[in-house]
Amino acid sequence: MLSEHVQDAVDATVAPLFGSRTMIEPIPRFRLPDVEMEPQAAYQLIHDELSLDGNPLLNMASFVTTWMEPEVTKLMTETLPKNFIDADEYPQTAEIERRCVSIIADLFHAPSSGEQAMGTSTVGSSEAIHLCGLALKVNWRNRRAAAGQPTDRPNIVMGANVQVVWEKFVRYFDVEPRYVDMAPGRTVIGVDEAIALVDENTIAVVGILGSTYTGEFEPIAELDTALQELNARTGWQVPIHVDAASGGFVAPFAYPDLAWDFRLPSVRSINTSGHKFGLVYPGVGWAVWRDQADLPEELLFHDNYLGNDQITFDLNFSKGSSQVIGQYYNLIRLGRDGYRRIMDGLLDISRDLSAKARASEHFEVVSSDQALPLVTVRLKGERAYSCHDISEHLRLRGWIVPAYTLPPKVDDVSVLRVVIREGFSRDMADNLLADLDATIEHLEANPPAAPTVKPHHRQRHRVC
Ligand SMILES: *Cc1c(COP(=O)(O)O)cnc(C)c1O
Repeated sequence: MLSEHVQDAVDATVAPLFGSRTMIEPIPRFRLPDVEMEPQAAYQLIHDELSLDGNPLLNMASFVTTWMEPEVTKLMTETLPKNFIDADEYPQTAEIERRCVSIIADLFHAPSSGEQAMGTSTVGSSEAIHLCGLALKVNWRNRRAAAGQPTDRPNIVMGANVQVVWEKFVRYFDVEPRYVDMAPGRTVIGVDEAIALVDENTIAVVGILGSTYTGEFEPIAELDTALQELNARTGWQVPIHVDAASGGFVAPFAYPDLAWDFRLPSVRSINTSGHKFGLVYPGVGWAVWRDQADLPEELLFHDNYLGNDQITFDLNFSKGSSQVIGQYYNLIRLGRDGYRRIMDGLLDISRDLSAKARASEHFEVVSSDQALPLVTVRLKGERAYSCHDISEHLRLRGWIVPAYTLPPKVDDVSVLRVVIREGFSRDMADNLLADLDATIEHLEANPPAAPTVKPHHRQRHRVC
């Protein structure tokens, strides 16, 4: 008979995994366990528990990358130990971030590109939006203070279709939001409606390149023209910020002639999500400014270790390097032609899906074929079931297709949205369509007691 101690040691090395105590006895979930467990057991426990999550490939709700090439996955794993903020210890990582900023600034037609490009990597568009919003507020305040005018009532003009981060920005940084209401038939900002809300205290007008609700591009060139005219008439200097979280890596390739970026004089800053159509795993984003004057000096921090002047503008300190490295890999691996091929391919699939939805008797297409690669549909006519019922039923096959209501004023409309991302083939789109047909057939034959309705909660919804 072995002592209990020795028996434990034997167990740990030779016992079958699912014969071990760790797998048979409960483990504490909400306090630190008293003793260690085998790494293999810890891996298996957590790995298995996570299989209760949805399958990322079938998650049609997200804009965020779920597939990358094996080579870059290897590279990103290799760079896990590097803290991005340690630019002195990892100067080449810092150099690679600068190159990404230059490449993206150039892609967005910034006049100060190359080594002069003004921008930074962020954790995602959310951090980028907080930074850009803060810079807009400080620029406005400095202009007002220099002219001896009051600086206590900043506001920002944006569509009611903005992503939730803008609601956070105005609350965290104390700026009055002025929302442009949607109207029947208009699910993006209206130019005249936006201009009517602008005054001398407006820090910026936001234009969205790729609304999260419908994927539509807001009329940024028209906003620019109207704003230039207003600024010329009033002497104000109200700029545009473009929220290109999703569209920033689509438009330059799929719609190169669309002027939405620094080609427009009023556009002073742009955010984009590297982890959306930039094709990197979460989380990486980019904030880019038109030129140095758009980035107030008092927001920049200079560290001077080892004689190197490191300038930072961020909300957090430490973060991983892997995402920045992943972005650089994609940029040099794909080039303009690679990104164009991928975006054209995704748009091909989404246009095909929307053509099929249009041809069916069930759906009306709300999204545009000339915008992001996604399809948003509403149900045609009176139905005994809702988009929410369809969404729930599709979950039985593993598909995650979100149902939600459009923004306030058009929130009587419920929609389903399918985002086409890299890694989703035509073959999978056909599988999705077949399951959608089967779902509708099922709901027609077995309607719920009443169609499921979920009201729109401005502060609560999660569209992406
Ligand atoms: C996704 C998204 C955001 C937030 O971006 P993250 O990269 O997820 O932080 C902001 N605005 C729009 C339009 C978006 O689509």
